[in-house]
Amino acid sequence: MSQSYDVVIIGGGPAGYTAGLYSARSGFTTAIVEKLSPGGQMATTSVDNYPGFPETIDGFELGEKMQQGAERFGAKTFFATVSSVDLKSDPKVLETSSGPIQAKVVIIATGANPRHLGLPREENMSGKGVAYCATCDGRMFKDKVVAVNGGGNSAVEDAIYLAKICKKVYLVHRRDKLRATPVYWDSLKKNGVEIVWNSTVKGILGDSKVTGVELENVKTGATSELSVDGLFVAIGRKPESSLFAGQLDMDKAGYIIAGEDTKTSLPGVYAAGDVRTKAFRQIITAASDGANAVHSAEEILMK
Ligand SMILES: Cc1cc2nc3c(=O)[nH]c(=O)nc-3n(C[C@H](O)[C@H](O)[C@H](O)COP(=O)(O)OP(=O)(O)OC[C@H]3O[C@@H](n4cnc5c(N)ncnc54)[C@H](O)[C@@H]3O)c2cc1C
Repeated sequence: MSQSYDVVIIGGGPAGYTAGLYSARSGFTTAIVEKLSPGGQMATTSVDNYPGFPETIDGFELGEKMQQGAERFGAKTFFATVSSVDLKSDPKVLETSSGPIQAKVVIIATGANPRHLGLPREENMSGKGVAYCATCDGRMFKDKVVAVNGGGNSAVEDAIYLAKICKKVYLVHRRDKLRATPVYWDSLKKNGVEIVWNSTVKGILGDSKVTGVELENVKTGATSELSVDGLFVAIGRKPESSLFAGQLDMDKAGYIIAGEDTKTSLPGVYAAGDVRTKAFRQIITAASDGANAVHSAEEILMK
């Protein structure tokens, strides 16, 4: 692969393929470089909250539809890993596992993945009671009992969100004080969330689906079991941005700093979807970023 495009998009999730659709449909030569399969994070789940689909849709299928939508207008997908980038050169140069590729404009849509606890069987039980996104999977636990693991703002927001759907919500936190801002504390109480202080989740119980979690008290070392139907892991996300370190401005957590226009600290480089600083990381907000990125890039592409 030694080619040159108007727009090269790194990542074939909803942000990447929406950017690909808008870019190719506007007549720009467009390449999407994806290291795994189309769809990104959503490829592993089923989706209820993307508009236009009255029934639940398989996330992998939605990813393939997004790919087909972009390719219909001439976007090309390369299944390869981008291993290094020079975003300051003109044109910009990307090294990939299939060779170099050049671009006038680069749209970074590499996503962010939820941090896992690293427990034995955690990966196996994902989708069988272990979940990482309350907004996405909360409905599956309607009238059930769940535990949320974490103590920051997103864990607390998740617990409050789930308390409106579930029969009972426990918030398991390793300290004796929450890291979340005090504004949430009242809401936790009002919604009946029970906090299990000074505790960590040490194990997942159940064979084909979660039936409980094993807890350890970090002060006493005592272990106990908590019967739950689900475990929401809410200990933060890891943006896929290390490739761009030193070239783009990022926040402390490694998210690429960009507003709704997706413009980064370098001209001609845009960050769309979960990888950029934003409040709400969902398929629809990623897709929206993909469209905005191409709109912003037009000021360079139309020159
Ligand atoms: C289990 C789970 C369930 C979810 N359920 C829902 C839901 O029901 N509804 C909802 O709205 N949201 C849901 N989400 C969130 C949603 O999937 C994400 O917000 C969305 O996928 C973000 O899209 P993105 O395009 O920014 O990034 P991603 O979907 O993360 O896609 C990034 C892509 O970039 C590729 N990539 C990364 N680095 C490189 C590289 N160096 N070279 C080449 N390719 C690279 C990755 O392989 C990946 O395919 C869920 C997330 C998870 C984890």
